[in-house]
Amino acid sequence: MSTQTAEEELAVVIGLEVHVQLETDTKIFCGCSTEPSEDEAPNTRTCPVCLGLPGALPVLNEGAVEAAVKIGKALEADVPETTTFHRKNYYYPDLPKNFQITQYDAPICQDGSLEVSVEGDRREIGITRAHLEEDPGSLQHAGGSIDTADYTLVDYNRAGTPLVEIVTEPDFRSPAETRAFLAKLEEVLEYLGVFDATRDGSLRVDANISLVPGEEVAADGAIDEAALAEANRTEVKNISSHKGAEKALAYEVTRQKNAVRRGREVAQETRHWDESRGITVSMRSKEAEKDYRYFREADLPALEVSDWKESIPIPELPDARRERFVEEYGLDAESASKLTSTKEVADFFEAVAEAFDPDLAATWVADNLLGELNYRDMAITDVDDRLDEFERLIELVDEGELTTKNAEEVVLRAMLDEGDDPDTVVEREGLGKAESGEVAAAVEAAIEEHPEAVTDYHEGDEGAINFLVGQVMQKTGGSADPGEVNGLLREALAE
Ligand code: ADP
Ligand code: MG
Ligand code: ZN
Repeated sequence: MSTQTAEEELAVVIGLEVHVQLETDTKIFCGCSTEPSEDEAPNTRTCPVCLGLPGALPVLNEGAVEAAVKIGKALEADVPETTTFHRKNYYYPDLPKNFQITQYDAPICQDGSLEVSVEGDRREIGITRAHLEEDPGSLQHAGGSIDTADYTLVDYNRAGTPLVEIVTEPDFRSPAETRAFLAKLEEVLEYLGVFDATRDGSLRVDANISLVPGEEVAADGAIDEAALAEANRTEVKNISSHKGAEKALAYEVTRQKNAVRRGREVAQETRHWDESRGITVSMRSKEAEKDYRYFREADLPALEVSDWKESIPIPELPDARRERFVEEYGLDAESASKLTSTKEVADFFEAVAEAFDPDLAATWVADNLLGELNYRDMAITDVDDRLDEFERLIELVDEGELTTKNAEEVVLRAMLDEGDDPDTVVEREGLGKAESGEVAAAVEAAIEEHPEAVTDYHEGDEGAINFLVGQVMQKTGGSADPGEVNGLLREALAE
């Protein structure tokens, strides 16, 4: 690319390679667990297969293939009838076989897309491919980073965890778009039930970025293939969050623009995102595909998914579900968005909306329940087996047995904090709406105890009635209905 190009005339071009750990019970080619146990010792979740011992043979995990097919369907990609596995050869201590089993020219998902919206702008991001592969082990650099440690330990517990690598087209035009894409992708993956965002390192991103002369960008945003190929790009590794992607890429945009401004060529290289310093540092010149000497993995036959893939269902995806909530339940966009934030929240809401008016259900789930859960750092999955208790709470209010205020501020909170069911809390706290006899007695007592307020009322002081209502509410422990008390007092005082 011409180094004379003015900085202003450069377009930002970004493509992502996203590694997603699949949430299967066992590893992709052996029966070892994928679930790290608490305080697990290094190299304990291992076997001859994932340690790469001579003679050990891989057996493909059916669950990993199903997850990949679901991802393909959600990304509207082609899932070809036959896909194959390849060996990607390279030496690194975390890779005990000296090759990674991956897919090469026949990946399980090809040619899909995902729509994202950035500040109201809808952008369709092309998905070039998504393929299955195994995660390597992990390295622990003693006392520091790769360039300062005295020695490095290797742990193979992660080795063989199933991954899907999703490769996008170079369709992003700003760092902010990548952040929106990753958030959307994560939401879709969680809806599919194939991914757990809370697991450390479950999403890892390599970001490719280059600057292309503005005149190569067509009016519709498309960029000439030759210009893309010609542009020198950097590949930034070690990005592990949406925010990290945006920050690392923003740094690269500035760095590359500065290089161009000074008349220097941007080197085609692999760079490392140093999260703590907020900079990218050069790692190595970019490896070429031929360096990996890809060849067919002879220990795994070609995988046929033709009939099978039709029988693998995917749930309604977040965008579609949001739109349906607006149409079917008459929710506003904000509530619909809150109530579809995860599949579990949406399922919970729909169960409640079946039993009650959708508006009432939306208020209780979106405002009350999610608010209280959020405050406690809890998730819907901590309480979704208590649907019947939650419905009972709404029923108590709906039938006039419990005031809304007590339901929200006392009962719901006690249900979450102490794990009690609503009837138990109502009973214990004496919150059931007071019997009419009890209210009548309290009205009588309030009048008797506060003759001055009675006089004030008769002299036309409306504030006095509010005072008396307060007295009655106190005597009934807040369980009387204030409007009803007001009426009873006026009746009694008129006599
Ligand atoms: P490689 O074989 O070098 O890894 P690929 O063609 O597989 O290259 O592309 C890898 C990633 O680089 C993809 O996400 C793609 O969108 C992205 N990419 C390709 N060209 C460019 C470019 N000019 N600028 C930024 N990203 C690019
Ligand atoms: Mg690549
Ligand atoms: Zn194993």
